[in-house]
Amino acid sequence: MAEQEQVRIAVIDFTKCHPEKCNYLCKRMCPLNRTGKECITVANDGKPRISEQLCTACRICVHKCPFNAISIVNLTAKLINRVHCYGENKFRLYGLPVPMQSKVIGLIGRNGIGKSTALKMLAGKIMPRPDCKGEESYEAIVELFKGKELQAYFEKLSKQGIKVSFKPQEINKIAGAFKGRVEQLLKRFDELEKLDEVVEELNLSDILKSSVSRISGGELQRVAIACCILRDAELYFFDEPSSYLDVQERLRIAKIIRGLAEKGKYVVVVEHDLAVLDYLSDFVHVLFGSKGVYGVVSSRLSVLNGINQYLEGYLKNENIRFREKELVFSRIAEKPEKKASYLAYPAFTKSYENFKLETLAGTIMKSEVIGILGPNAIGKTTFVKTLAGIIDSDKGKLNLGLKLAFKPQYLRPEEGITVEELIMQSSLDRELFETEANKRFAISELYERNLEELSGGELQKVSLAITMCKEADLYLLDEPSAFLDVEERLNAAEFIKSVIEKKEKACIVVDHDLLFQDYLCDRLIVFEGIPAKHGKALEPQNKELAMNRFLASLDITFRRDPQTGRPRANKPGSVKDQEQKKQGKYYYL
Ligand code: ADP
Ligand code: SF4
Repeated sequence: MAEQEQVRIAVIDFTKCHPEKCNYLCKRMCPLNRTGKECITVANDGKPRISEQLCTACRICVHKCPFNAISIVNLTAKLINRVHCYGENKFRLYGLPVPMQSKVIGLIGRNGIGKSTALKMLAGKIMPRPDCKGEESYEAIVELFKGKELQAYFEKLSKQGIKVSFKPQEINKIAGAFKGRVEQLLKRFDELEKLDEVVEELNLSDILKSSVSRISGGELQRVAIACCILRDAELYFFDEPSSYLDVQERLRIAKIIRGLAEKGKYVVVVEHDLAVLDYLSDFVHVLFGSKGVYGVVSSRLSVLNGINQYLEGYLKNENIRFREKELVFSRIAEKPEKKASYLAYPAFTKSYENFKLETLAGTIMKSEVIGILGPNAIGKTTFVKTLAGIIDSDKGKLNLGLKLAFKPQYLRPEEGITVEELIMQSSLDRELFETEANKRFAISELYERNLEELSGGELQKVSLAITMCKEADLYLLDEPSAFLDVEERLNAAEFIKSVIEKKEKACIVVDHDLLFQDYLCDRLIVFEGIPAKHGKALEPQNKELAMNRFLASLDITFRRDPQTGRPRANKPGSVKDQEQKKQGKYYYL
């Protein structure tokens, strides 16, 4: 269905709409209704409906609605191929990603603009309904994509089905739902009888006997990926496979996922770590739109063009600018020696029964953000907790006199408490919260929601906002990028930098998204050693030295994309890879 140059979209968030509290203020205030027309009506479910044909986009209802439930968007771009509408005045999706046999297709875009909807449609879990008031059916969609690759795909899906295996984004729910051991869970999915091979590939042998509810986030992610690839399917979907994994594990799962494509499967991946998406995909589709209102899927692009056009905010083929601002990566860090020293810590060791951490002495500057790079279970949290005096070193407390504010990696929301209640209970710098956190993350829009109802990304933003607005001397953030989309990651990085600069304190960030760390941090501490056995923290180093050392240990080289400044992993064995290795330049500044 081709739509005209002007498309009007009126969407009501029915979860926010409470006509019993406002007595249909939108309907009463609508100028068309006041002249006797039926632009806003009340449907059988008691909720209002806005006629997109009559609406003139005056937006009076948008401003009057006391619960911010209405969005009216006037699109001038020509939008074609509407594939789905959840119903009248509900979210709609234009276009679909095109799965290809033997290829990995990456999806890149903001949260809430239809990636999961698109995946569910390709998986046959929701049927297409191009007409908001019409019936769900495959016929219209087959017609819509006549002569294109998707025609054959939907014909097959509607006639014989396509067997799909899916790795969900919210893996924490698996831990809540399954009460047995890892081995039992994996056996349930082992349709191809290759359990031993997959356990070996994903390094799961040590945790087979562990209870699923007890394993760490990184382990749970690997178990979820194992469940997905153990199934005998034609199409494999991975929704954010890298969260909680360290860099080495990210590269390993990237290879495993590519291996599925090499075996002739269709593979589609949603991923916000751009280095991983880049490394993993053959092609990408960019998704853009307005959260909860509409989403548009771009044509298929090469990985280089797709990621660059996404960062640029402009799609060349479609001639659509979907974001005013370009997202730029290259950031020249202020020379640390220009900053005053904030804290100096001595070399120390910390031993547990089966693990020993050794650290070199270091100095952290005022207003400095220090990134930590290293695998999981290498002693990163132990290091910071010892600095903060929460745990003793082998020779006793360090006594640096630091008050720590800590955002843990795994966020376990309390039940039965709203976001507003949590914020009221927390001891925060209220002014900073309003001017920085709320402004950037629109936390107040989440106030009425219960913590356990929040998505991973929403919970991450609330936790980050609360931690950064606490009074402390040292801030420790463990994987703040998890579940945030690319724009939210950069926004979070700006937020952290801004707060630390304003407060003139210091922040240590553990994160495995290399582009995020590159963008956010002034300097980096590299951790080396053998996970779960012994770790060594080097002194804080400038980014080039630290990244070089870290990437050399992984035997992977990165170059900078000349157009966007973003670091890109070189394909192993490529000319660039070999050249850079010869020069010892694993990381290009
Ligand atoms: P993404 O995967 O990009 O985060 P989704 O496809 O999950 O986005 O959701 C896009 C929008 O579709 C959501 O913001 C939500 O408003 C809407 N949506 C999702 N599922 C339904 C549903 N079953 N009924 C109505 N609206 C839905
Ligand atoms: Fe009231 Fe807003 Fe619902 Fe209209 S959309 S009925 S103004 S709550």
